Amino acid sequence: MVFLAVRRAKALQITLAIIKPDAVAHPLISEAIHQKILDQQFIVVRSKELIWRRDDSERFYAEHKGRFFYQRLVEFMSSGPMRAYILARENAISHWRELMGPTKTYRARYLSPESIRGKYGLTDTRNTTHGSDSLDSAEREIAFFFPEFNKKCWYEMDEPLIRAGY
Ligand code: GDP
Ligand code: MG
Repeated sequence: MVFLAVRRAKALQITLAIIKPDAVAHPLISEAIHQKILDQQFIVVRSKELIWRRDDSERFYAEHKGRFFYQRLVEFMSSGPMRAYILARENAISHWRELMGPTKTYRARYLSPESIRGKYGLTDTRNTTHGSDSLDSAEREIAFFFPEFNKKCWYEMDEPLIRAGY
């Protein structure tokens, strides 16, 4: 009997990315961030522009309730249009977070000046972008922004074709 070792190609990972209102307010900056997404071989699975109501912002950032920056974060995130993406790639979650750079703008500027936050961040609150930080948060955050997105269906139908380059 012959056993064949079949190496399965790793499925693409998906993550939720946001271009926050401070960056969307500057078309050249949001365009540069969008271009970075494409240059880094992310597949844009879904994207949309939207404006949050205050309670959307409060629900999304509930984990930070009580922190000193919570109120200004909630206000900022519901202050204007933002662009949300489902992005697919190998190691999408960690790769996007690495491209964004550190959360705090002053750290990003000094430690990672070429990162998105290092280049375009204005303050610790207005730091241009968001990215899910784990498989669980990606799942939750994708459902928050794209409730109609059927992950199972996408992995069955689209992902194998995209990965195979069809
Ligand atoms: P992220 O996952 O890198 O975005 O960071 P967190 O989940 O810790 O925080 C969520 C968001 O809250 C950040 O992206 C910032 O917009 C804001 N934030 C976090 N820490 C601070 C802080 O120390 N000061 C201020 N002003 N805002 C913060
Ligand atoms: Mg976070």
